[in-house]
Amino acid sequence: MTAFSLDPVPARRGKPPRHLADLTPEQRREAVIALGLPAFRADQLSRQYFTRHNADVATMTDLPAAARAGVANELFPRLLNPVREMVADGGATVKSLWQLGDGSRVESVLMRYGSTVGSEVPGAASVALGAESDATDEQPASRVTVCVSSQAGCGMACPFCATGQLGLTRNLSTAEIVDQVVAASRAVPDDQGPGRVSNVVFMGMGEPLANYAAVVGALHRLTDPAPAGIGMSPRRITVSTVGLVPRIKQLSGEGMAVTLAVSLHAPDDEARDELVPVNTRWKVAELLDAAREYFDVTGRRVSIEYALIRDVNDQGWRAELLGRLLNERGRGWVHVNPIPLNPTPGSRWTASRPGVERAFVNALRAAGIPTTVRDTRGRDIDGACGQLAAAEA
Ligand code: SAH
Repeated sequence: MTAFSLDPVPARRGKPPRHLADLTPEQRREAVIALGLPAFRADQLSRQYFTRHNADVATMTDLPAAARAGVANELFPRLLNPVREMVADGGATVKSLWQLGDGSRVESVLMRYGSTVGSEVPGAASVALGAESDATDEQPASRVTVCVSSQAGCGMACPFCATGQLGLTRNLSTAEIVDQVVAASRAVPDDQGPGRVSNVVFMGMGEPLANYAAVVGALHRLTDPAPAGIGMSPRRITVSTVGLVPRIKQLSGEGMAVTLAVSLHAPDDEARDELVPVNTRWKVAELLDAAREYFDVTGRRVSIEYALIRDVNDQGWRAELLGRLLNERGRGWVHVNPIPLNPTPGSRWTASRPGVERAFVNALRAAGIPTTVRDTRGRDIDGACGQLAAAEA
């Protein structure tokens, strides 16, 4: 990668056009003034987009007709072109494949739980994807979760993950991330009210903390109250990471107490070096210390993600070691989400046997660690965790 990294980036991997959702409220005011409009138009346009999920200036009747073309070109370029939609779980899971302006492709997944549709799915109300798995006041049994991509492809090269096999194409912009949530909000049926996306998980394609600035920008747009943003509660947002320790520390200082999910997958460096190659840089102990520190600073209970892979990381001694390492760092700060591996095409690995999975969960619970097996929504449409590989589609 040394000499080649100086080669020009292929032209089709262009920088996405600037969009309203890339801008801070102040930058939006500057942008509308540059278009010859009064500053208050910025809030109006922000409400159209973040609250009404409207990016079609032709329908913005509160905007003077003469201003519409300029606003459309400068603030609402089309970022996500729908290529395909796939439906699973009786309509409760919808995977969208998007083509970006430069031809890159990403996927997002909309999942409904415990509502009119979701309740038809066995067990749907009892498990969550990504965030806390128990129904609590923070995670009500009825919710709409959208799983977003933060990069086209991924550079982290985890061998069990479909996206990891693609390599990194490019980072998404803030607006390309936010627009996945806005598009999902539009897709939520009216009977649930407009914009009823209740949870966002950064568990689609990409490593969010490797695209830090754009992801933090997206977190601001998602959590800032209207008209600056969508006004979601940070606790309903989960950022999942392979464990970029300096970025975890930085995220804890952003003043948004989003939920952190750590993709651990092994409690020992020997196995984790192979499963999550970035472990060769930041070891398990250092990562767990950073996760505990994240809890101390934000008060948010951390999720440990653990894909159970048959005979690779599912042994009883690893469950016990994991419980010990977590308990050494205190009680009540963490919970574990094991998930049976979704085997990717050509993978040499498969999911743990059900009895082994149960034993693993029981060992953690016996150690006093709250543990909930995570749902595997959307398997039949390759929409389940770790199966997103839009470049192949
Ligand atoms: N890069 C981030 C977010 C994307 S992956 C991260 O790794 O956390 C979201 C979750 O799916 C991660 O916990 C990841 O380890 C898990 N995952 C990836 N491939 C999987 C697979 N084949 N089966 C089950 N989970 C998988």
